[in-house]
Amino acid sequence: MQFHIMTLFPDMVKTGLCTSIIGRAQRDGILQVDTWNIRDYTLEKHGHVDDYPYGGGAGMLMQADPILRCYRAISDRCSQAPRVIYTTPQGMLFTQSAAKALAKEDVLVILCGHYEGVDERALSLLNAECYSIGDYVLTGGELPAMVMADAISRMVPGVLKNRESGEEESFEGDLLEYPQYTRPDCYEGLLVPPVLLSGDHGKVDVWRREQSLRRTLLRRPDLLRTAELSKQDLEFLSRLGYSPETAEDG
Ligand code: SAM
Repeated sequence: MQFHIMTLFPDMVKTGLCTSIIGRAQRDGILQVDTWNIRDYTLEKHGHVDDYPYGGGAGMLMQADPILRCYRAISDRCSQAPRVIYTTPQGMLFTQSAAKALAKEDVLVILCGHYEGVDERALSLLNAECYSIGDYVLTGGELPAMVMADAISRMVPGVLKNRESGEEESFEGDLLEYPQYTRPDCYEGLLVPPVLLSGDHGKVDVWRREQSLRRTLLRRPDLLRTAELSKQDLEFLSRLGYSPETAEDG
């Protein structure tokens, strides 16, 4: 899969995505992350890429023209016009299921905003899909682009090796993951739950499922509304005081 990230701070994005699993996947040729400096595409003689917003107000806006020129340079390298994501606090919330769906694309362009954002016409002309990584405002779209590229990449076949598998993780089936432990079995007086040392895989599976349900109820009860719950799950949750009819948001 190829990512083309349009930004005013390419070094920040490059540095953020060149290490660990995402860096390895690039070296293995499974992923390609290209950063594009929008400033290279301005025709303004001083290299400006922003201007004051019409109608007044604080801050500067990124102009449409350098963004469009940058996008056209990217799409000239692609066999068809690639899908564009704009990172913005005004977008749909970026979730694990969005990451999975976007991982099916061969090429994705991510546009990082800065200052007060970008001229709306750039977004219309690019037919950009807007995604937010959460209900807070950051100074730029570089961190959201890195967050999204990381989460999407993990869902691309071959990026995670077997031992890093993402199959039993938080948000699978809309539940949070169970607590995990590694050696030693006693640390500062705290013991690993005995069932995990029992060697009984059936009991371990039941314990993990129950812990997952318990943790989701405690921390993210809103997820239970859409979670795939069996009769046994519902019985366990009802012993913890949960009832689907009275379920509230987390
Ligand atoms: N004026 C904009 C507004 O009120 O919606 C906020 C602009 S913000 C200071 C600058 C840039 O950071 C945005 O254009 C966007 O690319 C990025 N950004 C900030 N918060 C974000 C978030 N929660 N999710 C995704 N992108 C974000």
